[in-house]
Amino acid sequence: MSPTHDVIVIGLGGMGSAAAHHLAARGARVLGLEKFGPVHRHGSSHGGSRVTRQSYFEDPAYVPLLLRAYELYAELERSTGRRIATLCGGVMLGRPESRTVAGSLRSARTWDLPHEMLDAREVRRRFPTLTPAPDEIALYEARAGFLRPENTVAAQLQLATQGGADLHFQEPVTRWEALPGGRGVRVHTPEDAYTAGQLVICPGAWAPALLSDLGVAFTVERQIMHWFEPTGGTGPYVPERHPVYIWEDTGGVQIYGFPAIDGPGGGAKVAFFRRGTGCTPETVDRTVHEDEVQAMARQAARLLPSLPGRHLTSVTCMYTNTPDEHFVLARHPAHPESVTVACGFSGHGFKFVPVVGEILADLALTGRTGHPVELFAPGRLRTTATSPVPSAPGGVR
Ligand SMILES: Cc1cc2nc3c(=O)[nH]c(=O)nc-3n(C[C@H](O)[C@H](O)[C@H](O)COP(=O)(O)OP(=O)(O)OC[C@H]3O[C@@H](n4cnc5c(N)ncnc54)[C@H](O)[C@@H]3O)c2cc1C
Repeated sequence: MSPTHDVIVIGLGGMGSAAAHHLAARGARVLGLEKFGPVHRHGSSHGGSRVTRQSYFEDPAYVPLLLRAYELYAELERSTGRRIATLCGGVMLGRPESRTVAGSLRSARTWDLPHEMLDAREVRRRFPTLTPAPDEIALYEARAGFLRPENTVAAQLQLATQGGADLHFQEPVTRWEALPGGRGVRVHTPEDAYTAGQLVICPGAWAPALLSDLGVAFTVERQIMHWFEPTGGTGPYVPERHPVYIWEDTGGVQIYGFPAIDGPGGGAKVAFFRRGTGCTPETVDRTVHEDEVQAMARQAARLLPSLPGRHLTSVTCMYTNTPDEHFVLARHPAHPESVTVACGFSGHGFKFVPVVGEILADLALTGRTGHPVELFAPGRLRTTATSPVPSAPGGVR
């Protein structure tokens, strides 16, 4: 039987919906398979907002990808009319030697990105809700801001469908295999088995199940987003006056937050960056407990005393971390002719979504990409001494 599709994409969350869109736009016949419905809250791409920024403290190697992602996000808004990116400015706060400040400054200098350094007094003057300690400083970036994750995924699914992609929701992949001799792939679901020349796997928190043969020790972490109504109301927190922020305390604990953007009564969102608890997508505790709300309120109040006025709601989400917190974005080393993977986004992937889609389309259709992705090769993380088995199946357990 000859394949009915050129490329199968597993997972239609942030990355998979981007891949489906970019592949379809290049004329590939795409089949997308998603376990849940379109734009759901069971994975990692929900919660109303994501920080975007260019002075990237994680590593300057990400900056060229961010510059391209900004262009592609603007294109996504233009072609769908959906509101996705708001560049309200952002402050990266902490002691000068903190990773948040020093790392951001390193990227800004390496790539000559527009930025300003503010001392604590200047931060308080410009943004009166923020009360950094006298020995803390900030890198201010006017082009930082926030993205709307649900609108992003919806826009990409819309464009994928318009481009002719065949998207199946509520259809979980139970198993996939690369056919011997580079003859493509076969993917199994409870409904059917599908064959294609190429497979792109974007499994989010299900990476340990779908990509067990990658040899990467992923850890899936339960994370919580909290919304508070500030004391005195949201007036000073509107995005015209309030930046996004990441603050690192002297113990290295980072929190990040947003202006009040979730409408009347929606409050402002704040969260710990990392410090989650280990989980699996099947067993994650979706209930948020009072002590967790209190811990967030206490830490947030150290920087923004007015923020934790009244607790409104809290929602869980998952990070899928790699040991070094850099992504995995590459051809699958055991199946380099036919399988491409995008996973392990380690809690900082959303701002890259459209450029990841472009890279996945490059890799699946041509086997290479002009984007700098050397940092994301899975070989750097392999823990098992297994030799690649060309037709090893990737099953879901
Ligand atoms: C609380 C929180 C805050 C974050 N904040 C930021 C931020 O401020 N800035 C930033 O850049 N990033 C942030 N991130 C990270 C970012 O959101 C993620 O890196 C990104 O959403 C990951 O996208 P994904 O496509 O890998 O995963 P997902 O969007 O979860 O998609 C994976 C998809 O695969 C599907 N799937 C899994 N298994 C199967 C199967 N067997 N068959 C079919 N389908 C399957 C799932 O249902 C899901 O739809 C945050 C994440 C969280 C949780």
